[in-house]
Amino acid sequence: MKTIGLIGGMSWESTAVYYRLLNERCRDLRGGLHSAPLLLHSFDFADIETLQKQDDWSGAALKLAGAGKALAAAGAELIVICTNTMHRVADAVEDASGLPLVHIADATARAVRRKALRRPLLLGTRYTMEQDFYRGRMRDRFGIDVLIPQKDERDAIHNIIYRELCHGTVRDTSRKRCLEIIERARGEGADGVILGCTEIGLLIDASDTTLAVLDSTRIHVEAALEVAANE
Ligand code: GLU
Repeated sequence: MKTIGLIGGMSWESTAVYYRLLNERCRDLRGGLHSAPLLLHSFDFADIETLQKQDDWSGAALKLAGAGKALAAAGAELIVICTNTMHRVADAVEDASGLPLVHIADATARAVRRKALRRPLLLGTRYTMEQDFYRGRMRDRFGIDVLIPQKDERDAIHNIIYRELCHGTVRDTSRKRCLEIIERARGEGADGVILGCTEIGLLIDASDTTLAVLDSTRIHVEAALEVAANE
């Protein structure tokens, strides 16, 4: 199995989930004492969040590209960025590392297609929901028409992510709010929900709604293992 270079810490709450899932799934797939060969570059998320707020995506690209390069030098054979939002700078990471990058939006779009969903609702940070790097990619490369919540709903989800989930705080009131948002979108024709933030799986899972739930973290882990296992 190839060594996976993880760019994480954004936040570490979800990177911890990646670490556990990658190892659990590797054990399931390979048996015995097998676990996933991993290298981790874990950022101080406060630094990254400052760049996001300043809209300094080229500064963020430089930082993540440096991490990608360092992981390649340390022996990583593929790259996984453990956040949807920071895929905004995925091309810079891929170029700097010279390694294949398992893109979370591509893996998630393939899962949407496998389930034959036509209008999935995207939940994520404001950056992921509002900018074009994620929805545009799904539209242009996969022909998927992604719905996003209304402005006040996007603000609520963004705040739940940064003020609660990235601190490891999981509140029933926030789950209820997200489920209300999902229900309203269902009324507008949403036929599935993309958990397009790697922390949202801490709050919502498939048992919370009858709509199809696509957890980008779990999907990304499966896609990464598939590439890693392909010698
Ligand atoms: N982990 C989150 C995501 O998947 C949000 C934190 C970040 O901005 O990276 O988008």
